[in-house]
Amino acid sequence: MDKKNNNQPVIDSEEILEGILNWVELESPSHDSKAVNKMVDQVQEGLDAIGLELKRTPGRDGYGDILQARTPWGDEPGILVLSHTDTVHALGTKEMANTIRREGNKVYGPGIYDMKAGAYIAFYAMRHIIRQEKKTPLSVTFIYVPEEEVGSPTSRDLIVAEAKRNKYVLVTEPAREGGKIVTARNGRLQYEITVTGRPAHAGTRHMDGRSAIKEMAHQILKLEALTDYERGLTCSVGTITGGTLTNVIPNECIISVDLRVPEMETASEIMKIVENLEPVNPDCNINIRGGIDRPPYEKFDGIAKLFEHAKSIAAEIGFELQDMKTGGGSDGNFTAALGIPTLDGLGADGSGAHSFDEYIYFSSLKERTKLMIGLLETLT
Ligand SMILES: [Zn+2]
Repeated sequence: MDKKNNNQPVIDSEEILEGILNWVELESPSHDSKAVNKMVDQVQEGLDAIGLELKRTPGRDGYGDILQARTPWGDEPGILVLSHTDTVHALGTKEMANTIRREGNKVYGPGIYDMKAGAYIAFYAMRHIIRQEKKTPLSVTFIYVPEEEVGSPTSRDLIVAEAKRNKYVLVTEPAREGGKIVTARNGRLQYEITVTGRPAHAGTRHMDGRSAIKEMAHQILKLEALTDYERGLTCSVGTITGGTLTNVIPNECIISVDLRVPEMETASEIMKIVENLEPVNPDCNINIRGGIDRPPYEKFDGIAKLFEHAKSIAAEIGFELQDMKTGGGSDGNFTAALGIPTLDGLGADGSGAHSFDEYIYFSSLKERTKLMIGLLETLT
C-alpha cells in the first residue's frame, strides 16, 4: 500500500483517478452480464484486498452478479453504501463516442460520472480508513448492483433486505449542479395498457369495427392531461403499438406509460385514476398492468438531520454542501421509502450522465472522498 509523508497514507487525487479509470476501462452495459462481471471481478479484488467479508450472488435473467462486502467490525445496525457496476453505454463507447481522456479539469469516459467515480470513491474511502489502521464506529456494508440502470429488477429485494438491517444508506450516484447531493427524488409509476376493440374490413364493414387505436387515442389524451408541472407530476406515453394492416380496423393497441410523482400521496391518487380508466366506447376493453416502479424518495426529518450532519463535515473540509431534489430515480428510492435516512448523489461532480459527453471534475475527487470518509467515520 502507498505510504507517503512520513509513512502516513494521504488522500491522493491522482491515485483516486487512476483507480476510477481502471474501472471505466471495464465497460459494463447493464444487459451484458459477461462485461459487467469483469467489472465486478475488479471491484471484488479491491474489497477483498482490504479484508472485507465478501458475498457474491450469481446474476440471473441475463444480468451480472451482485457483490456485497461487509466490515468484520462495527455496531449494527450500521451503514449501507449503495453503488452500481453497470452503465447505460454499449461496449466500444470508450473507443469512439466518448474516449477516455483528460482535458484540463474534466475527465471523460463512458459511465465515469454515472457512476464509476462514485463507486470507486466509496471503495477508496474505506481503503483509506483501513490503511490508517482505523475502524468505523458502525459496521459498513457495500452493495454493488449490476443492473441499476434498468431499474434493479434482480437486486431490489436484496437492497431492501440489507437496508432494513442498517441505520443509514449512502448512495454514490453522481453529484448534481456544482456538487449538490440528493435528498429527495420523484417516484416512478409504470404501466402497460392494452385496448382491445373489434376487427373489421376498413372498406366494406367499417361500421362493424371498433378501433382499438381510436379508443387508445382518447385514453392517451386523458393520461397526458395528468401532467401538472406545478405539482411536480408528469405523465408520458412512451411507446405505442397497434393494428395489423391499413385496411383492417385495428383490434389491439398497446402503450407503455411513465409517470413521475413527488410523494406517496400523489402516487396513490394517480394510481387510482390510471387503474380505473374506463373505455370511451363501451364495446372496447381496457387492460391495465403495472404500478409503482420506484416509490417517491421524500426528505423526511431523518434525512434532513443526516444532511445537516454531512453539511457540517463538508464545512470542516472547507466547502459548502447543498442538497436538492431530482426527478430521476435511483436505488435510494427503495431505501428512503422504508424510512431509512438516505443520502444520495455522493459521487463525483461532473455532467453528462447517460450521454456521450459524460465527464467528472478532477477537482471534486478529493473533497468527495473526504466527505465519504467523514460520514463513515462519524455516523453513530
Ligand atoms: Zn447511476
